[in-house]
Amino acid sequence: VLIPLLGLGLAVYFYSGPGNFSEEMLRGKRVIVTGASSGIGEQMAYHLARMGAHVLLTARTEAKLQKVVDKCLDLGAASARYVSGSMESTAFAEEVVKEAEITWGGLDMLILNHIGHSFFDFFNGDVDHVRKLMETNFLSYVAMTVSALPMLKESEGSIVVVSSISGKVASPFTAPYSATKFALEGFFSSLRHEFIIENVNVSITLCILGYINTENAVRTVSHVIKGAPAPKEECALEIIRSGALRQRELHYPASIVTPTVLLRDFAPDFLDGLVRSNLRSAKKLWI
Ligand code: NDP
Repeated sequence: VLIPLLGLGLAVYFYSGPGNFSEEMLRGKRVIVTGASSGIGEQMAYHLARMGAHVLLTARTEAKLQKVVDKCLDLGAASARYVSGSMESTAFAEEVVKEAEITWGGLDMLILNHIGHSFFDFFNGDVDHVRKLMETNFLSYVAMTVSALPMLKESEGSIVVVSSISGKVASPFTAPYSATKFALEGFFSSLRHEFIIENVNVSITLCILGYINTENAVRTVSHVIKGAPAPKEECALEIIRSGALRQRELHYPASIVTPTVLLRDFAPDFLDGLVRSNLRSAKKLWI
């Protein structure tokens, strides 16, 4: 009982940004969303469109991106376009930012959200898979940030990094994925310090997500995770809101993520035991 209560208290702390959110804050803003062909990224594109933002969307599958762009235009986006390609290559990551520069001549918000495919299983020693996933889930985030920084400095804009509870608390069967998400926290938290030291007025928001009901996540872990997933539509809105309010960190859903993160620091062995026993019972179902 105490843990959820503590979680809720802290959730209020994490949610309350330095002002009130209004959808007007996004009107006319120039926003890049990666991983926007499905899942949370797609939902973020729709919210931003409804709020009247300019959106530049990216992922690999052109046909899906075209549909998302069409719907964004129907919903009232100031403009909507896409660039398709794979974030396994940092050259493509830079190309997306270049496209924003050519089209808009500036950028207000960079939402880094895509992930490459990973397995939910024992780590099989495949070092190449870890390298590839680091390139897609981490290095491309760094490359896009570096390319976008001059425009973001100019607009005093925002970087929003979509991470996971797996980037705060490790669990079995996710070693490569978890590594990429921990890397994001280290890199962007260090960068945040440097921005403050150098008076760079660009915010960095790290989004720590629990289980969300995207098609891919449900397909991969629904047989292992007992609780119901949180809705992707609300999750997408919370990410945009936390970025617009320049919050340091978002916990969503807060009632689960915040207590878990607290337990990691105060009772790590207890938390690890909980994580393993949950998965052990799930593995019986699996077999
Ligand atoms: P999805 O799998 O639904 O979407 C992933 C997106 O990334 C798709 O648009 C996909 O499009 C794109 N993508 C995949 N591979 C590449 C690639 N090589 N290059 C460029 N784009 C690629 O993910 P979710 O919406 O579930 O997750 C979004 C974010 O939320 C991720 O950062 C994830 O880690 C985080 N998160 C999600 C949770 C959940 O339960 N859903 C839990 C915790 C965190 P395409 O295939 O067309 O390229």
